Amino acid sequence: MKIAFIGLGNMGGGMAANLVKAGHSVHAFDLADVALAKAKEAGCAPFTSVRAAVAGVDVVITMLPNGKIVNSVYSSDVIGHAPPSALLLDCSTIDVGTARDTIAAATHAGYVMADAPVSGGIAAANAGTLTFMVGGTDVAFARAEPILDNMGKAVIHAGSAGAGQAAKICNNMILGAQMISTCEAFVMAQKLGLDPQVFYDISSKSSGQSWSMTSYCPVPGVGPTTPADNGYQGGFATALMLKDLKLAMEAAASVGATTPMGARAAELYEAFSDGGSAGLDFSAIIRTL
Ligand code: NAD
Repeated sequence: MKIAFIGLGNMGGGMAANLVKAGHSVHAFDLADVALAKAKEAGCAPFTSVRAAVAGVDVVITMLPNGKIVNSVYSSDVIGHAPPSALLLDCSTIDVGTARDTIAAATHAGYVMADAPVSGGIAAANAGTLTFMVGGTDVAFARAEPILDNMGKAVIHAGSAGAGQAAKICNNMILGAQMISTCEAFVMAQKLGLDPQVFYDISSKSSGQSWSMTSYCPVPGVGPTTPADNGYQGGFATALMLKDLKLAMEAAASVGATTPMGARAAELYEAFSDGGSAGLDFSAIIRTL
């Protein structure tokens, strides 16, 4: 298939490379020359604009920083420029409202479009082991699934337009709160005289077990190798966790959901990020406790 891939940063670069490996012809565009050059090295064909990249393709995939950019790329350069038969998939993490508005505009123009945000970071994007949560019609999902399969280990139909984004921010709201509670338990355990490894051995087999503990332990030298073992470099940046928690808080306000733990996690991550740690992995919040 001919696939236009717009946004070849930390995530999109690896995803586009996996589409090439699966035998697709990938038309790449990014505003940053360095990202475009890397995509070329991975076997993508570089293009000089979104409009040029989407001309004549079967599928358009976007992996962009935020909802404002996503909406502007689709309204100015994708809708009316990609063939009407093209499937449109936005894999960025954006607010539910913008996702729904963008899909409605594309649908109005005769396209099939879905939101398909991902769980899993840069390593999963490179390895092709992302989880995709797809919001759209049954037809959109049926067309999206075999393409997303090339980049992920799981592709799940979350519901109608915007449901993928809703699932993503609810999931990451759990993650933000859970990481903080895991960090505070490790720090308190140590202050109470427990060895962190012993506490890990107990809690990882008890009811306190969580993904933050056993897959992403925030304590160096304990559990599997994680960003904690690398000075909290790489991994999932605090700035991105804060972005997702802010999206979650906006969504909660828009539907009147009560999310005290999510709200507190958002406050703590905002303070941590503002204190100069935006670029550190989000598990580094343990340093503040
Ligand atoms: P990134 O900043 O590394 O990449 C975004 C790319 O988009 C950049 O290369 C930038 O030049 C390009 N871009 C910006 N505006 C553009 C435009 N108008 N036209 C073309 N290209 C444009 O970000 P990332 O880490 O790859 O994240 C991308 C999306 O994935 C975000 O929505 C993020 O929230 C989400 N996400 C990231 C992670 C992660 O671990 N990094 C995990 C899950 C989801």
